[in-house]
Amino acid sequence: AAKRKTVRDYIRTIPDFPHKGIMFRDVTTLFADARGFRIAIDQLLDPYAGTRIDKVVGLEARGFILGGAIAHQLGVGFVPIRKKGKLPGAVHSQDYKLEYGEATVEIHTDALQPGERVLVVDDLLATGGTAEAGIRLLEKLGAEIAGCAFIIDLPDLGGRARLEAMGIELHALCD
Ligand code: IMP
Repeated sequence: AAKRKTVRDYIRTIPDFPHKGIMFRDVTTLFADARGFRIAIDQLLDPYAGTRIDKVVGLEARGFILGGAIAHQLGVGFVPIRKKGKLPGAVHSQDYKLEYGEATVEIHTDALQPGERVLVVDDLLATGGTAEAGIRLLEKLGAEIAGCAFIIDLPDLGGRARLEAMGIELHALCD
């Protein structure tokens, strides 16, 4: 019998995007497949069965697609962490370093109450800079991080070690 596809099998790699020499892991092909998207959402949630999660936090932009589906599945609310200048209300901001230059992420100051337990989601963990900046924002609001869930971890780029050093529980569906 033909082997059923795993999450990894639905992910496409595009060479030289956005720059020459970069192998871009493209999850749009995973999201576009009904079974692929469903098993990804189920597997992202699996480690958190039986744990209290009050809100799901998604990192812009693919974390919104995953986070919305996960929040719906858990029956909890969704909170976006967005790139600078997109959120209309009062925000906390966090700067972080990119390979070339700097970026800023923001969260609404009233998005979470102190002590709320959140699950942070994004498609891919590379250096961990984006996730760390998001976690800093959540700490400013006094939220507790139940964990961080990713589709893909690029272990050579150090994100896992960086988040683990912060005491964060993290799970990825594939390396
Ligand atoms: P980091 O901040 O270095 O961990 O990079 C992770 C962020 O960059 C995430 O928000 C990802 O969506 C994005 N990213 C970096 N490389 C890729 C890739 O190959 N495919 C999809 N997203 C990527």
